[in-house]
Order: sequence, then structure tokens, then C-alpha cells
Amino acid sequence: MTAAGMAVPIPPAHEAFRAQVREWLAAHLPPGGLPDPDTEEGFRAHQAWERTLHDAGYAGISWPREHGGAGGDLLHEAIFTEEYERARGPVRITRPSLRFLGPTLMRFGTPDQQRRWLPRMLRAEDVWSQGFSEPEAGSDLAGVRTRATRSGDEYVVEGQKTWTTYGRFADWIFGLVRTGSAGDRHRGLTCLAIDLRSPGVEVRPVRQVHGRTGFAEVFFSGVRVPADQRIGGEGEGWTVAMTLLSFERGPDTGGPVRSEQRLAALASDVLADLPPDAVPGVRRELGEAAARLYAYRAHTYRRLTAQWGGEPAGADSSLVKLFSSQLDVDLVTLGADLFGDARLGGGTPEHLDYWHSRAGRIYGGTAEVQHNVVADRILGLPR
Ligand SMILES: Cc1cc2nc3c(=O)[nH]c(=O)nc-3n(C[C@H](O)[C@H](O)[C@H](O)COP(=O)(O)OP(=O)(O)OC[C@H]3O[C@@H](n4cnc5c(N)ncnc54)[C@H](O)[C@@H]3O)c2cc1C
Repeated sequence: MTAAGMAVPIPPAHEAFRAQVREWLAAHLPPGGLPDPDTEEGFRAHQAWERTLHDAGYAGISWPREHGGAGGDLLHEAIFTEEYERARGPVRITRPSLRFLGPTLMRFGTPDQQRRWLPRMLRAEDVWSQGFSEPEAGSDLAGVRTRATRSGDEYVVEGQKTWTTYGRFADWIFGLVRTGSAGDRHRGLTCLAIDLRSPGVEVRPVRQVHGRTGFAEVFFSGVRVPADQRIGGEGEGWTVAMTLLSFERGPDTGGPVRSEQRLAALASDVLADLPPDAVPGVRRELGEAAARLYAYRAHTYRRLTAQWGGEPAGADSSLVKLFSSQLDVDLVTLGADLFGDARLGGGTPEHLDYWHSRAGRIYGGTAEVQHNVVADRILGLPR
């Protein structure tokens, strides 16, 4: 009994769950995939697919039943994620909701907020996005400038968010806004749930380098947000945001599966398409990548075990992110070096993969920032 080819012991009941998931996916995955979620039609198709997953008990697998989840544990969730990636299931537009926004609401939301939002997140009736980054506040998140001013029972929001994944078609944004003065930095921040259909919200799609438009810039002018949509206390936004990021950076067992698929595809292309005398040098590089993949998977499972034991994501999640994102960049770069630009033509899966791998070193905290965390908190180096 192993986790995806390595010696991680998995209890028999969980292996039975894996078999059940495999069988269900084989029978229910949409043949031929779904249309691009960056189009209206594709997004709605993904929403319907999420509903199918929910109805089969595969949304919020480790969420408590009181919040509408399946009541499983982290290992059930991890196994489902592995099998879903292995079967190349459609991208999950509920990923932000299910992985980090919902769990943060469970921690900081009022019972009314939880009843109002969590079940709709699970069924993808409402799709949520994360509104942290701004043009002047990315790595320096405490520099957020979008302002929320209290006016009776409401906040009035002015400002701009950027790089909002799924923002184009999302219903809600989990926004980090400034309620105190700019000089307060971390202490002057608050989290608000903002309905993206509110008057004064303007969503502008951002066209990316590979031609897709899934990101959005979100502008707020005089947007009135009921005060009961504040998540956590006023001025508590930094604590809420850091908790959210610790969920976001938690172990993702889908990552090693995706890297393994990249590596396997590259190895098979090398064997099929390169002259035999070119193969030995490349074989060494592929062997190194396989060793790194093994370490990545081991670290992912180690983090999962730690999280199961109640240990929050710590500085070592920065190590895993650094390590895994660099592995993906190296694999697609090796593919591009070996097979040239032909396969990177616009719109091909290789083309998308090439650019997505670059994004992995940016979202959820850039590689440079992760290096700082490792230097500071793991190695204890002076700043
Ligand atoms: C695919 C993708 C999805 C995203 N989705 C979302 C989303 O849904 N919601 C959201 O809010 N944001 C999202 N983001 C934004 C992401 O969080 C930011 O891009 C990231 O935090 C970096 O911020 P920035 O782009 O402003 O770069 P900057 O912070 O301006 O950084 C620019 C460069 O300076 C370097 N740098 C900055 N500070 C330091 C430092 N202290 N030491 C060393 N180097 C430093 C950085 O590493 C980088 O190379 C997404 C980004 C990507 C790529």
C-alpha cells in the first residue's frame, strides 16, 4: 500500500476510498474534458461539473458535516486530489473556496455567515475569489490601499484589486481592505466579503501572455458593503489573511502527480523523438528530476502528516513551494530546449504548461519571498 508509488503506508479503509474514487472518476469524468473556464460557457460548464462532484460527495471531503462537507479526514482529501489529478479531471474553479476561503470562514466567520455562504460554496452556486493583491501591494501585502470607511451599518469601499483568479465570473470576493490609517500597516486591515454584483464594482478581464483571460482587475467605487459581511473583527484582517494563506500553502498532493505526468511525458518524448546518441545526457537530467520528484512527494506527505497532527503550515511550506515550482520550471524548460519552440505554439497544452509553470514561482508568494522566509526562519540567517 503506497501513496502514488512511494512507501507511505495508507490504511486499508483509505485505500478502499481510493478505489471508490477511481471507479467514480472513470465513470463520470466528462469525456473530452470541458470548455475553457476563462469563457462564460466554459465557466458555467465547470460550475455544473462542481455540482456533480458535490452531489457525489466529493466537494469539501474533509469539511465537517455541520458545514455541509463530507466529514472525511485530510487523507481522504489528499487521496481524492491525487486520483483526480491522475485522471486529469477538469480544473477546479472552487479550489480557492474549498481549499482556503471556506476553511478561513469556518475559523473566523459568524455562524450566520457560515450558514449563508459555506453550503453555496460547496455546491458552486456561488464562486468566490481572493482579493488581496493590488498594483502596489503584492509581496508587501501590508501595503494594501483599498479603503473601507464605516458609514452606519455599512462600509463604503474605494480602490482596486488585481490578479484576481476567476474574478471575471466569480460572485464574491474575499477582500483585504484598509480600515485604519496607512501608517497602521498590518493593524489597519480588515477582511470583507464583497458581492461582485454590487453597484460600483467593475470587473475588467486581464489578458495573459498565453492569451487567456481568467484573471481580472476589480475596481470599487463607492461600493456599499453591509457591516455584517465583515469577516473577523475590524483591524483583524492581517490575522485572517495570514490564516487564509497558511491554508493556501498547505500540502497539495495533486502537485507531485502533475509533476510526475510532466516528467513521464517528457521521458516518453525523449525515447520516441531523439536520436539514441542524444539520450544518455538527457537521461541524467531526467533521473535527477525523478529524484527531486520523489523528495517533493515525500515532503508533501510529511507536511500532510504534520497538519493532521494539528501543526499549522510553517516555514517548511515555503521550502516545498520553492522546490516544487522550480522542478516544474526545469521540466518544461528542458522540454522546450530539447524540442524547440514548435510545441510551444499558441494554445497547445505545452504552451499553456510552459507559462503556467512560470506562474508557480509567483502566486501564493514569490520564489524570492520564499527564499527570504527560508533564510530567516529555517536557517536563522541575519536579515
Ligand atoms: C497565477 C497567479 C494567480 C494569482 N491569483 C491571485 C488571486 O486570486 N488573488 C490575489 O489577491 N492575488 C493573486 N495573485 C497575485 C500574487 O499573489 C502576486 O503576484 C504575488 O504576491 C507577487 O506580488 P506582485 O505581483 O505585486 O510582485 P511584487 O511584490 O511587486 O514583486 C516584484 C518582484 O520583486 C521581488 N520582491 C518583492 N519583495 C521582495 C523582497 N522583500 N525580497 C526579495 N525580492 C522581493 C518579487 O519576488 C518579484 O520578483 C496571483 C498571481 C499569479 C501569478
